[in-house]
Amino acid sequence: MLRHLDVATLRSEFPILAQEVNGRPLVYLDSAATAQKPRAVLDALLSYYQNDNANVHRGLYELARRATDAYEDARVRIAHFVGAADAHEIVWVRGSTEAINLVASSWGSANLCPGDEILVSILEHHSNIVPWQLAAQRSGARIRWLDIDDEGRLRLDQLDAALAGGRVRLVAIGHASNALGTIHPVAQVVARAHAAGALVLVDGAQGAPHLPIDVQALGCDFYTLSGHKMGAPMGIGALWARRDLLEAMPPYQGGGEMIDEVGPDMSTWAQVPHKFEAGTPNVGGAVAIAAAANWISGLGRAATLAHERALAEHALERLSAVAGLRLFGAHTADDRLAIFSFALDGVHPHDIATVLDAEGIAVRAGHHCAQRLMRRLGVAATTRASCWVYTLPEEIDRLAEGLESAKAMFG
Ligand code: PMP
Repeated sequence: MLRHLDVATLRSEFPILAQEVNGRPLVYLDSAATAQKPRAVLDALLSYYQNDNANVHRGLYELARRATDAYEDARVRIAHFVGAADAHEIVWVRGSTEAINLVASSWGSANLCPGDEILVSILEHHSNIVPWQLAAQRSGARIRWLDIDDEGRLRLDQLDAALAGGRVRLVAIGHASNALGTIHPVAQVVARAHAAGALVLVDGAQGAPHLPIDVQALGCDFYTLSGHKMGAPMGIGALWARRDLLEAMPPYQGGGEMIDEVGPDMSTWAQVPHKFEAGTPNVGGAVAIAAAANWISGLGRAATLAHERALAEHALERLSAVAGLRLFGAHTADDRLAIFSFALDGVHPHDIATVLDAEGIAVRAGHHCAQRLMRRLGVAATTRASCWVYTLPEEIDRLAEGLESAKAMFG
């Protein structure tokens, strides 16, 4: 039987949500930019710094042992969270941006040659575009674009056509789009890419907060996590990669912790994943992202998915009733997240966001780091409302009412 999410109780675990903004209860609809943090994560972070803080590895005293254990236990926890076969396949990074730069730089320098192609979808966040452009410039490879249909779904026919050319070395796609909320058919993309000899990197920044992750079932080669989108602090994330790939990849950055022996001209590297973790790591962040993963898992994925689906259905109904509102992306709730990008006739996205802010409603207006998508949609910017597990249907109602106010004011 499906366990329902008790959102009212769950909200009490997010102290930040219990405040008024401009005289109204805060409605936080910007979770795709960053999610709020549950008390369990705040407590884990505080407890680490209050009780265990020390630099990790090589410290021969109790606190250093505890900090090292906490850091490495967190790695095991995240390996489990993404369904990895082995905790050595988890590399700590600052977030998805750093994870993708690591792969584009390290894997790219060892594997991309002139004439090779990197296939990138038009829906991608700039974090999953620009590192590939830099890798292409360095190697002589080129970017090929994968378009979307009018409901924001990937054009799989174009994927097949591009792969048939035999030059695609890597396909870079998100698990889900931060701008439109589209969930990509990752397993299908992976099967087709692998059949053509290409690897697949999945930008999981918007996957982990919303969707179950099993990297082995998805079959992908690289998967990235952003802690701050899933209830952990900013500045911590993870790259999962198949161990054989990590072992073959050269280091990304040089420094302490990532070496075995340092000689006069050359050095040798630590084993994976430490080969990719130069410098003092974000131990508190690792502890906190593991706490966030525990907290999300504790809610039950079936319950969070059902909540998200119900929110999407409610929002699609309420937003489609706002006259003059154009919703971008899918108009059905079954293959999308509760992330909504829209335009309102005659009202600039920034004006919408300002009117909503006056009513205590936080949304984002802009290009959402997806300028290629904005161009495809024929707009410079959209307004985006994005939900997470703590979002209530009544908050979507407040959004719809706020949009009516914006129309009355500017329309
Ligand atoms: N990809 C997507 C789909 C995102 O939404 C974001 C964050 N807005 C990123 C990548 C960048 O991730 P991070 O903030 O962890 O660098």
